[in-house]
Amino acid sequence: SGRWAKAMAILREFEEKCGTPIGKLRQVADAMTVEMHAGLASEGGSKLKMIISYVDNLPTGDEKGLFYALDLGGTNFRVLRVQLGGKDNRVGKQECEEVSIPPHLMIGMSDALFNFIAEALAKFVATEGEDFHLSPGRQRELGFTFSFPVRQSSIASGSLIKWTKGFSIEDAVGQDVVGELTKAMERIGLDMRVAALVNDTIGTLAGGRYYNQDVIAAVILGTGTNAAYVERAHAIPKWHGLLPKSGDMVINMEWGNFRSSHLPLTEYDQTLDVESLNPGEQIFEKIISGMYLGEIVRRVLYRMAEEAAFFGDSVPPKLKIPFILRTPDMSAMHHDTSSDLRVVGSKLKDILEISNTSLKTRKVVVELCDIVATRGARLSAAGILGILKKLGRDTVRGGEKQKSVVALDGGLFEHYSKFRGCMESTLKELLGEVSDSIVIEHSNDGSGIGAALLAASHSQYL
Ligand code: ADP
Ligand code: MG
Repeated sequence: SGRWAKAMAILREFEEKCGTPIGKLRQVADAMTVEMHAGLASEGGSKLKMIISYVDNLPTGDEKGLFYALDLGGTNFRVLRVQLGGKDNRVGKQECEEVSIPPHLMIGMSDALFNFIAEALAKFVATEGEDFHLSPGRQRELGFTFSFPVRQSSIASGSLIKWTKGFSIEDAVGQDVVGELTKAMERIGLDMRVAALVNDTIGTLAGGRYYNQDVIAAVILGTGTNAAYVERAHAIPKWHGLLPKSGDMVINMEWGNFRSSHLPLTEYDQTLDVESLNPGEQIFEKIISGMYLGEIVRRVLYRMAEEAAFFGDSVPPKLKIPFILRTPDMSAMHHDTSSDLRVVGSKLKDILEISNTSLKTRKVVVELCDIVATRGARLSAAGILGILKKLGRDTVRGGEKQKSVVALDGGLFEHYSKFRGCMESTLKELLGEVSDSIVIEHSNDGSGIGAALLAASHSQYL
């Protein structure tokens, strides 16, 4: 029928605009490398902030003692404590708790958010058992993973540049987030010192390096997306401080804000961006990460419903609601292997209140999920190639094969197996013969442990 043809025309046009042929991915990788250079050359020199983290040493294994970590960066935050045993005993006992952040705190006032966090942390500290040992006379120390763009001024201070991922708390922008947390802890009488302020990429890099000395970069694919890597300090023109003893400096790329004329952007991405809390920003993130993939699918389905009566004569009202289709639900539909696609059927019914969908319709929904996930996964692979190029690790040098390990973490990478599989195979395709020496390693909650390790290596008692 005419309706079906119209719907297919919308789908095909979207598919075409989302295309990521290998040549385009190489252009994206090259553009990433160029922007990395520009961001390292001068402050504000690129959309890539290339933030100097002040982490110039990564964990060695010698770290010892009781340390806490706090991870804030999405809808949940985690608190963690770990007893580090040094070279011989490594990570001893470890405990973790996850607390979800009430949505009103994500768009409220700074004090309210930090009070909530400090209180949750205090409750967690109160449950510290006999297995953990704080050396007598010492203050508890914390690694604070704060996964939003921060202008670092030292290892344990930095001001918030902007919120991302659905957070919007005006009065916190420009503030030192360690100061905000410290004040909140003081207000409730929690005696704890923030020893390191990092973000999830740097935490993941540190956690990854603790277990594997070949880890050179970390990438997060979760609610948002970002990457960090180990740069040579002398290759950072905008660094005017002393060259660190190690010669290294970890760089937080903030690659979610990458954009390039080579990115395959569609009209759906443009309207998503315009209607978002941060228009014009985080364009790479908005086509790759978990916060947005399901929403892109919804937008295309909405167009198909409106212009091609894809779900019948009227547009299903639920389909009009932004962010109603979450990426985990999209992923569940995409992975549906049943012959009648009954997961797709029930998701459409339960979430969008569209019942009695035909198999043909369900197949189109799966195909749409595939288009959106494939574009995101292939672009993430291109981003990783950009980092490897910057480090000169994308080619075989003089026949020697140095291993390069990239630590990956985040709910999208962890749970969306088609996304992950596509990203990994695309990276292989891009790397060709070098792909044997590049390893993608899942660093499971490396970020929490990583922050605790960095707190240990920046302890006031060293
Ligand atoms: P955050 O990035 O908020 O710190 P996570 O790394 O746990 O937290 O990632 C959570 C994100 O991962 C969710 O917002 C969601 O987009 C994505 N995600 C979680 N589970 C799944 C799933 N089963 N399939 C696809 N994506 C998922
Ligand atoms: Mg996270």
